[in-house]
Amino acid sequence: MSSISVRNSLPSAAASPGDRTEVPSESNENASQAAPASHRGRKIATWTAVSAVALAGAGRVAEHAVVSNFEASWGTLESPRFTISETATLHPISTYRERATELIESARTWKKELLALDAKVGDLSSISDLETRRGLARTLYEKNFGPYETVAAISNSEEEVPGGALAKSETTKDPILQRPQQEVARELVETLVGQKLPEVLSFEVGDVPIEGIGGFANSLTSTATAEACNIFPSEEANYYETVGVLGHEVGHLVFGFSESKLDSWTPWNAATYGTRVREEAAAVAFRTLVGAQPDDPQTRFFVSGDTSRLIEEFMDGKLDYGLAEGAALADAAFTLHSDPRAAYKAITTPGELDPALRTVIAANRELCLQQRAILAENQQLHERIQKRLKSLIEPQ
Ligand SMILES: [Zn+2]
Repeated sequence: MSSISVRNSLPSAAASPGDRTEVPSESNENASQAAPASHRGRKIATWTAVSAVALAGAGRVAEHAVVSNFEASWGTLESPRFTISETATLHPISTYRERATELIESARTWKKELLALDAKVGDLSSISDLETRRGLARTLYEKNFGPYETVAAISNSEEEVPGGALAKSETTKDPILQRPQQEVARELVETLVGQKLPEVLSFEVGDVPIEGIGGFANSLTSTATAEACNIFPSEEANYYETVGVLGHEVGHLVFGFSESKLDSWTPWNAATYGTRVREEAAAVAFRTLVGAQPDDPQTRFFVSGDTSRLIEEFMDGKLDYGLAEGAALADAAFTLHSDPRAAYKAITTPGELDPALRTVIAANRELCLQQRAILAENQQLHERIQKRLKSLIEPQ
C-alpha cells in the first residue's frame, strides 16, 4: 500500500465516488412516499414488503417487532449502544476548508509561474533570428509542457494518450489487499467503537439490490452491503473505497436514526428530507472516523472517501436524497470541532443542529467559487502560453 502515484493516477479528486450510496433521486422520492419511515432508497424492496403488510392491517405489529429487534442490537438514538471509543486512534481529519485553501494557494503559486513564463514567451517573440527563436521556444515548451511532438499531437487531437493516466495500474498483488474487505471493515469499526459488533451484523461485498448505488444498509437483517468498487485505476483505491462504503453503511445501522423511529410521525421522527440528511451526515461522519484510523495516509484517504464532490454538489444546489447535504454537514462539524468525537456527537445528538454549521458551509461555498475561478484563469493562461509557444516553433 504504497505509492503516491496511486493518488496521482486518480482522474481527479472530483471523480471519487466519495460515499457511493447515491440513489437516483426519483426512485428515492417514491420510496419515501410509499414508506415514510424509510429514508433510504436502498430499503425500497424491504419496505415495499412491509408497507404491503401495513395495508393489510398487521403493519403496526410488524413494525414494532422490527423496532425492538433493532433497538436490542443497536440501542436507541437517545441511548446508543455504540459510540466512538475514547481509545481509538484518530488521525487529524482533512476538511473541505483545508483542502480548498491549500488548492487555492497552490493555484496562486501556479499563476505566478504562468505569468513569468508568459513574459518569457513575449521576449522570445522579439528575437528576429528564426532558428534561434524556434530553438529557444522549443526548449521552453518542452520544459513546461513535455515533449513537443507528443503534447502537440494530443492537444491537436484531444485524444487520450494510450497508457496514460487513466490506464489501469499494474496489479500490486499487495498481500494486504488479498484480505476480505469485510474483515478489514469489521476490524476498523470495532476498534472505532471500542467493542465487538452485534453477532447479527453481517458485512457483505456483492450485489446491491438497487441499480446505481454503491452501498446498502438493511436494518431488518442488520446487513451492511457494499458493491465491490472497480471504478478507480488503482486496485488499492477500489479495495479501500469498498471498505469505506461498508463503514458508511454500518454508520447508518449504528446511528439507527429512522429505524428507531419507525412508529413515529412527529416531524423530527418521520422520514422527511431533513431526517435523511441528518442520517446521511451521521453515516458520512462515521465513515470519516473509520477512515481516520489507519496509519498510512493513502489508506486513510481511500477509506474515508473523498467527499469534496458531494459537498460541491450541495453548494451548487443539486438535490439528492440527502447524501450531498449530509456530507456538507458532516464536514462542517469536523471543521467546527477540532475534536472529531465532538463533531460526531454534534451530528448525532437529537435536536437542532448548531446554526454555525451553515455558516461554515456558506464560507466553504465562497472558497469553492474562488477555487474554480482561479483554476479557470490558470487554465486559460496555460492554454494561451502553449499556443503562443507553438506558433513560435512552427514554421509560419
Ligand atoms: Zn448513506
